[in-house]
Amino acid sequence: MYRFANGAAWIGGELVPVAEARIPVTDWALTHSDVVYDVVPVWDGAFFRLDDHLARFRASMEAWRLAPPEGPEVIRAALHAVVAASGLRAAYVAMVAARGQPLVPGERDPRRCANHFYAWCVPYVHVFGADAAARGVRLHIAEGVRRIPPDSVDPRAKNYHWGDFTRGLFEAKDAGADSVVLLDHAGNLTEGPGFNVFAVIGGRLVTPAEGCLEGITRATLLELAAAEGIDTETRALPRSELAEAQEMLACTSGGGPVPVTHLDGHVFANGAEGPVTARLRAAYWARMAEADWRTPVAYPSAAPAS
Ligand SMILES: *Cc1c(COP(=O)(O)O)cnc(C)c1O
Repeated sequence: MYRFANGAAWIGGELVPVAEARIPVTDWALTHSDVVYDVVPVWDGAFFRLDDHLARFRASMEAWRLAPPEGPEVIRAALHAVVAASGLRAAYVAMVAARGQPLVPGERDPRRCANHFYAWCVPYVHVFGADAAARGVRLHIAEGVRRIPPDSVDPRAKNYHWGDFTRGLFEAKDAGADSVVLLDHAGNLTEGPGFNVFAVIGGRLVTPAEGCLEGITRATLLELAAAEGIDTETRALPRSELAEAQEMLACTSGGGPVPVTHLDGHVFANGAEGPVTARLRAAYWARMAEADWRTPVAYPSAAPAS
């Protein structure tokens, strides 16, 4: 099999098969989850909203005071290089900034670590499975864990601090759900592990304003809703309001918007995809195909097709 068929990584300036990319055990990325990252989808041979993902990655790095030596052009070229090497036409492409190893072993000064950048891609990921849109997603609201407060870990920088999500995922999986949504300490919805949420309440599309990553899929859906004449509200979304919601959806670059049919005991739209979600999902996939939002991957002409 072609070496890079399962994906490729760019690390230390070298391209390696994704399964062979390694970081040292003393890297703060590993010992302290000290990482910010971003994920841009490649669909039908082109990045979707690449500049928006690069801008968010830069903002995440600044928020975390991460300054790898690789500049914007190296980062951009590395993203093209991993996808081109893989030949994948549909890919999940990660860009990562890691704190790195302390300059003096054991020293605890985050300013004195060798920050570094790496990138990798694998075949396109549907976070909820490829059939999620058809079957609908079952979510669980965690009872035993709340989202880490934004004044402790800022969720607007995409990061690897998944301690709260992982606990929530155990709770959700044990309860038979597909995934989890975490509340903040005031009882408002925040987000799930790698996705934002929306509810349709009285015909309006509502999404949490704070306590979550400002997802690019979320931004796309807010734009598409405005274009479709659907009113939107970005505000606090208390758990108690979900009892009045007609629909709920989850959204991520890994699969786009998907209908949430069940939230614990509550069933939305009779357990099927609701009309607002269906419209937004169709509009999302149409936008994924629009040239204005796409950056074609620089495949070498000899790259194997996947
Ligand atoms: C990546 C991510 C999302 C979704 O963001 P997109 O830009 O739409 O992919 C939402 N929440 C968290 C915590 C994430 O890591």
